[in-house]
Amino acid sequence: MKPHLNYSSDDDPAYWDAALETQSRTDWDRFKVTLLKSHLRHAYRASPYYRSSFDAAGVHPDQFKSLDDLRRFPFITKHTLRERQLAVPPFGDLVAVPERDIVYISASSGSTGVPTASPFTQADFDDWIDYEARQFWSSGMRPTDRYCHSLNFSLFIGGPCVLGAQKLGALSIHAGTVPSERLLQILRQFQANILWTTPSYAWYLGETAIKEGIDLKRDLAVRRIFVAGEPGGSVPETRNRIEALWGASVYDYYGLSDIFGSCAGMCEQRNGLHWAEDHIHVEVLDPATGEPVAEGERGELVLTTLKKSARPIIRFRTGDIVSVTSEPCACGRTSLRMHGVHGRLDDMLIIKGVNIFPSDVEAIVRQDHDLTGEYRLVVERIDHLARLTVEIERIHGHNGTDQDLAHRFARRLKSVTGVTAQVAVLPPDSLPRATHKAKRVEDRRRGVWS
Ligand SMILES: [Zn+2]
Repeated sequence: MKPHLNYSSDDDPAYWDAALETQSRTDWDRFKVTLLKSHLRHAYRASPYYRSSFDAAGVHPDQFKSLDDLRRFPFITKHTLRERQLAVPPFGDLVAVPERDIVYISASSGSTGVPTASPFTQADFDDWIDYEARQFWSSGMRPTDRYCHSLNFSLFIGGPCVLGAQKLGALSIHAGTVPSERLLQILRQFQANILWTTPSYAWYLGETAIKEGIDLKRDLAVRRIFVAGEPGGSVPETRNRIEALWGASVYDYYGLSDIFGSCAGMCEQRNGLHWAEDHIHVEVLDPATGEPVAEGERGELVLTTLKKSARPIIRFRTGDIVSVTSEPCACGRTSLRMHGVHGRLDDMLIIKGVNIFPSDVEAIVRQDHDLTGEYRLVVERIDHLARLTVEIERIHGHNGTDQDLAHRFARRLKSVTGVTAQVAVLPPDSLPRATHKAKRVEDRRRGVWS
């Protein structure tokens, strides 16, 4: 019986599914091999795309015997999904079920081109929501909680995650993306104690509340904030600042519209994001060679679904740069943990030969309490070389000089990342505040925002 069905706060079970969540790494691998054998066969048998791409690569699902064998199978990318969807509308030929079995679609935001639709069968959808409840349980949600979900429902994969809270037995308040004043009113009226939003919006909402004279710790009941959608949720300095502002604990989550929401999320230890390894197999590869990096090293995240039957995803290159560990977690769960998303491969800046991600800069900005925490990176080409300017804001009432702040920041940036940058110190409230996903890089070499 699932623990929420006979829940009592006197007898609080630590796990949603103890046998699954605490099994040995050997058992995890054995379990995933069994699932993958049948998932690869399903993809090959029912999806025209996978049949031709496996044939072209000279591989067959019968050759798959261990997880290492997966490396013989070809990659797919976002471009593959978009291209196949355009070639075979409306869902593309990676789909491996008849259309009558598809009951739900999510779609990516389309900010970088044609939105790609991700189809689900009812079983895929139910699996996801069951997993979502399990993940929420590991982040400390219980049937006695009041959960406010402030994510968009319009085709967005984050929307239905609210159903996981409902399944767990918590009171689920789907506020959606309403104006901040309205959201604060909802949080206050219903005394919600868990909130889910993006990290930059959690920060913005907290600042807005204070400006409106709301005491976040006295007038509101929010004690846990789940965040997703931006690297900031895994930057400890950013989490610490949001936590200090709200008097709440922050839990980072990671999802993908092409797979499902909350593919990984933080347990109560908040030391990395646990992967849903009964649904997804994780590889971390060197983006240049496609070979695995050593455990703990940064590399590109490559994902393979294990059950999702409507559209199997085999070796999807996410473009996200991450690091993972299989070290045991103090919570007792044995699934792989990801130490956040360091950045997007697309966001990686190369300044005079040195790689740097916006999240590296963010960590330094958020450590300095003479700064507001907002920042922007401007990259220009000067004499054929990339020049980085970091724009930061001093806090109200700062006593020292801007020059001292700039020098201190530039020295810290150089020592942590090896990058030399110009630093511009701006008055408080100069930089645009994010309401959803923050745009923090202005690359003037291409004349576009990234
Ligand atoms: Zn854990």
